[in-house]
Formats: sequence, C-alpha cells, structure tokens
Amino acid sequence: MRDFSYLRANSVDAARQAAALPGAMLLAGGTTLIDLAKCGVTEPETVVDISHLKGLDTITLDDRGITIGALARMSSVADHAEIKSRFPAVSEALWQAASAQLRNMATIGGNLMQRTRCPYFRDPANFPACNKRTPGSGCSAIGGVTRGHAVLGTSEACIATYPGDLATALVAFDATVHVGDRQVAADDFFLLPGATPDRENAIEPGEVITAISIPASAAAGRSTYLKVRDRQSYEFAAASAAVGVEFEADGRTIRDLRVALGGVATKPWRARAVEEALKGKLLEADIVKQASLLAIEGAVDHGANHYKIELAPRVVARAILKVGETA
Ligand code: FAD
Ligand code: SF4
Repeated sequence: MRDFSYLRANSVDAARQAAALPGAMLLAGGTTLIDLAKCGVTEPETVVDISHLKGLDTITLDDRGITIGALARMSSVADHAEIKSRFPAVSEALWQAASAQLRNMATIGGNLMQRTRCPYFRDPANFPACNKRTPGSGCSAIGGVTRGHAVLGTSEACIATYPGDLATALVAFDATVHVGDRQVAADDFFLLPGATPDRENAIEPGEVITAISIPASAAAGRSTYLKVRDRQSYEFAAASAAVGVEFEADGRTIRDLRVALGGVATKPWRARAVEEALKGKLLEADIVKQASLLAIEGAVDHGANHYKIELAPRVVARAILKVGETA
C-alpha cells in the first residue's frame, strides 16, 4: 500500500473541496477503500475522512417515504423496525450483504460506491489488462474465467458485475440518491460500461453522497429480497431479485409490481418487461414463471456464466410467488 495524506473533514463543504483535489478519495467505513488500496487497485494521494461528519447518519420516515443519511451504517438500516415493516426488501438486502462485522462498519453511501468483485480487476499485479482500472488496456475476463460475470448490460470493453445488494432494492423502488443539491434516480446513478467502464456512476470529482430517499408505496411495503449464492452467508449474489407486489382488492390480481435483478448485470437491473407483463394478471405460478423469463431478455453469456441465464428468471419467479404468499 502506497503512502497517502490523511485529512479529516469537519463539514460536507470541506469534504467536497478536499475530494475535488487530484487523487483524493473519501473514506466512510473504509471496508472497500482500504481493501482496494491494499490490492493496488486504488492509490489515493489523499484520504478524506468523512466518517465523523455530524447529521449524515440519520434515518427519517414519514408518510411520503424514508430518507437515509449516507453515513448510516448498514446494520442500523437493516435493523430499523419501520424499515423492516415498510420496506422489507431494503432490510433483507442489507441483512444478506457481507458479514455482521462489515455491516457494523460500512455505510450506505460507501455501499452504493463499492466496486466490482471481478477477480482480474482486483489483481493488477497479475492482470494488467482491465479497461475499468486502466482505460484502453483490454479486458482479461473476456476469454478468461467468467463464472461470476454479468450477462446483462455488458459491452466489448467490460463484463463485470455490479456486486451490491442494497442498490438492487433501491432501483426496484424508485429511490433517489442525493448528491449535495443534486438528486439522481437510483436507476440513472449507475452507468452501463459501454466504451468507458472506468466511469461507473453519476458522481463527479468533488461530489459527496449525502443521503438516499425511497418513496413509500404499497409495493415497497409488500416486498422481499431473494439472494442465491454459492454459500448461505458472507457471499455475493450469483443472482438476486428485489420484488414488491401490490394487489387489487381481490387479493390475487397484480395492480403494481416492481422487479430488479442483482448479481447478473453490470448495474442493478430493473426488469420492466416482467413488471408490465404481470400487471393486471392473476398471481399464479405458471403465469409468473412464464413472465419471469422476460427478466433475462437480451442476455449474453461468456461460457461459465451461462447458468445465470437459467437461474435469474427462477429467482424472480420465486421472489414474486413468495411475496404473493404473504398477501
Ligand atoms: P468505504 O470503503 O469507506 O468507501 C467505498 C467507496 O465509496 C470509496 O471509493 C469512497 O471514496 C466512496 N464513498 C464513501 N462514502 C461516500 C459518500 N458519502 N459519497 C461519495 N463517495 C463515497 N456488499 C454487498 O452489497 N453484498 C455483499 O454480499 C458484500 N460482501 C462483502 C464481503 C466482503 C469480504 C467485503 C470486504 C465487502 C462486502 N460487501 C458486500 C461490500 C460492502 O458492503 C462495502 O465494502 C461497504 O458497504 C462499503 O461501505 P464503506 O462505508 O466501508 O465504504
Ligand atoms: Fe476489467 Fe471489466 Fe474486464 Fe473485469 S470484466 S477485467 S473489470 S474490464
């Protein structure tokens, strides 16, 4: 790990100014930043510590929805009683992320900004070719081991999966990311790799995420996050789905449906085709399974990740049926 300067910001404005300096990076919980600095992916000149900023860890709920400060810890949000009852998918996504120790350290803002777990990206010493790390250098994953890589939203430059769980739920329920005075829809916050996979989100140098907000909805209130992975805990998603359903008065006809996929795409992936196909339909297993196949429209595999094309629609269908059972 290279030497760097350390600066403790005492206000959001001070953090913004410091973060605009060349080579500066924000430090919140440190669980991603320190990790990437150790493996040589990130080499900050200055680490700007925002972890002690006051007022950025609050969680506020009212009839319109919830606002969560960027410095709120993953564990505090996961365990919040009203989030569990009004936004269960958000709580469940966080409970199933990382480990208890990490959740106690890691923040919501840092969670959104986490980087891909592509093993080639994280090993610069052995794999110099990585367009995300070094633009124009190539992609070591294409033609390599691709079991964890994306099947949706990929490009010729990069096939890396966005790894976070929370963001999948945020995209499903139309959350907004507050970046200072700017508010960005969660779906627009994360960028497709295209020809510039090094640019992963809508944050500009010197910008700080201050909060996220999620509007209240009946679908968010009846929701779940289903995560399938190689082992039952402390593992990233092979495929996951954040799903919420609102029923008509008969309790069986779908009025509103939200579906987003994790673990299979280069960004959290809203599956609008599934939503549209099922609105106005009865929640019956055959209908749901058939419509869930639309979740993977346009998917392209790279050999070892082919199983995700089979797995993702099953995860979506299971999640929808599970929420239906709780109706
Ligand atoms: P930091 O490490 O402090 O920062 C991360 C990045 O965000 C840095 O680039 C930093 O500059 C930037 N940043 C931080 N705060 C802000 C802000 N307010 N505004 C703008 N930029 C900011 N995550 C999952 O979702 N699911 C998993 O299953 C999972 N498993 C994991 C397993 C391991 C072993 C590890 C190490 C991590 C895992 N994670 C998982 C990722 C973990 O959730 C993130 O490391 C954590 O959420 C990052 O938060 P942090 O506060 O520690 O961020
Ligand atoms: Fe780098 Fe993306 Fe290729 Fe992985 S998939 S090696 S992150 S360019």
